[in-house]
Amino acid sequence: MLERTANRPRVVIVGGGFGGLTAAKALAGAEVDVTLVDRINHHLFQPLLYQVATGILSDGQIAPPLRSIFSDQTNLQVRLAEVTGFDLERRTVYAVTPDGERLTLPYEFLIVAAGSAHAYFGHDEWERFAPGLKSLTDAHLLRARILGAFELGAEAPHDSDRERWLTFVIVGAGPTGVELAGQIAELSRRLLGRVYGSMSAQNARIVLLDAAPTVLGSFPQRLQEIAHRDLAEMGVEIRTDAEVTGVDGEGVEAQDKSGRRFRILARTIVWAAGVEASPLARMLAQASGAKVDRAGRVEVHPDCTLPNRPEVFAIGDMISLDDLPGVAQPALQEGRFVAQTIRARLRGRSKRKPFRYFDKGTMAAIGHRQAVVDAFGVKFGGLPGVLVWGLVHVAYLVGWGNRLGIVGRWVWAIAARDRRELSISNTAQITAGHAFSEDGAASSSERAAVQ
Ligand SMILES: Cc1cc2nc3c(=O)[nH]c(=O)nc-3n(C[C@H](O)[C@H](O)[C@H](O)COP(=O)(O)OP(=O)(O)OC[C@H]3O[C@@H](n4cnc5c(N)ncnc54)[C@H](O)[C@@H]3O)c2cc1C
Repeated sequence: MLERTANRPRVVIVGGGFGGLTAAKALAGAEVDVTLVDRINHHLFQPLLYQVATGILSDGQIAPPLRSIFSDQTNLQVRLAEVTGFDLERRTVYAVTPDGERLTLPYEFLIVAAGSAHAYFGHDEWERFAPGLKSLTDAHLLRARILGAFELGAEAPHDSDRERWLTFVIVGAGPTGVELAGQIAELSRRLLGRVYGSMSAQNARIVLLDAAPTVLGSFPQRLQEIAHRDLAEMGVEIRTDAEVTGVDGEGVEAQDKSGRRFRILARTIVWAAGVEASPLARMLAQASGAKVDRAGRVEVHPDCTLPNRPEVFAIGDMISLDDLPGVAQPALQEGRFVAQTIRARLRGRSKRKPFRYFDKGTMAAIGHRQAVVDAFGVKFGGLPGVLVWGLVHVAYLVGWGNRLGIVGRWVWAIAARDRRELSISNTAQITAGHAFSEDGAASSSERAAVQ
């Protein structure tokens, strides 16, 4: 709880994700009054979101409330509000609370860490049929679609309908797409035969599509090959060099390298293909004269400040700096760096040091027994990969309760071959986005082009 001290510099932090949370923690004990504003009440550990979507973890385990995290930090208050604008001249942030109250938040230092959102490459109409995975709401929707597809596929009167329910297309073969494809394959294997008696895992078709020539395009070639092999062994159909040209309630259309078009009929489509920066990045750019790149990220100075605004920092997924990727490590390290910069300024040190990134590597899980890791020049997969992946993720979670709880769930999922979070909270989500024909069967034109 904030104990306000007159005349202390005010720091406003926008966003309680990886970057904002780290900056806020690193300002604990500093002679400043910190206000952390977020439009959600929790810190979301996005790397494990797919495990909520596939029934392994519960919401609370990856999304502790910001107020609980900071209950002991006396120089910080949390505000639940959506930031709508900035007046950099007047050093003011504008926000609106869920009940419509307009907030005006003055600052001496501003840190903006508002992250990114899905990008549909100019086809926002696809979102309804192919939701992405970025929030707890997205994870619930996806879980409803996957489990709903099992429910309705098990009872479908026509084979063609059953096939559509049990075909899952994941667009985008980066780490999120690979992790989701692997988990849907495992879920099918675990659940279909045992719980939905009339079916077996063979009934499920999981297709991973990407316009790039390989899965995990940003990883070293050896790890791409391991991931490809592991996914194929799990039954995932990989279609690379396939650019998506259309998405609707009954499937996906794509085009291969030779220009040949094909269509996959599916009722569960997931978008894991691209992201763009928070709209706040463009607002900051317009207000400060900074540039934005093609992904809408604001270009910052080497010390993460905006042009002519040494008191305004932007960090994480929403910035363009040194070609750093939009993953957790840059956000975490930038958060710590800007907090240290503010502390140094408070001590009267005005020399501006550039941010230096320490590359700790990259990793992706494929299934319970497979993950690929590229860290400090060492590249490996298999069980050692899973162990390192698990340790690293647990280390970065917030709170010991969540760490232990999550390890418990993993052990349960492997040992008991079961998952604890398999409820559908809103059955309307199963069919939202589908366009049903009268008999539920494919039309003749669809049959012609189906693969
Ligand atoms: C499904 C998924 C899996 C991922 N897996 C990995 C992985 O395995 N490894 C890895 O390194 N990275 C992974 N990432 C990427 C990683 O999560 C991001 O790079 C990281 O979260 C970026 O941190 P950030 O602080 O910039 O933004 P975020 O963590 O996204 O935080 C942004 C915060 O700003 C808030 N916000 C946004 N707009 C406003 C507004 N207008 N007003 C108020 N608040 C606002 C949001 O609510 C959010 O809390 C994954 C991402 C996703 C979506």
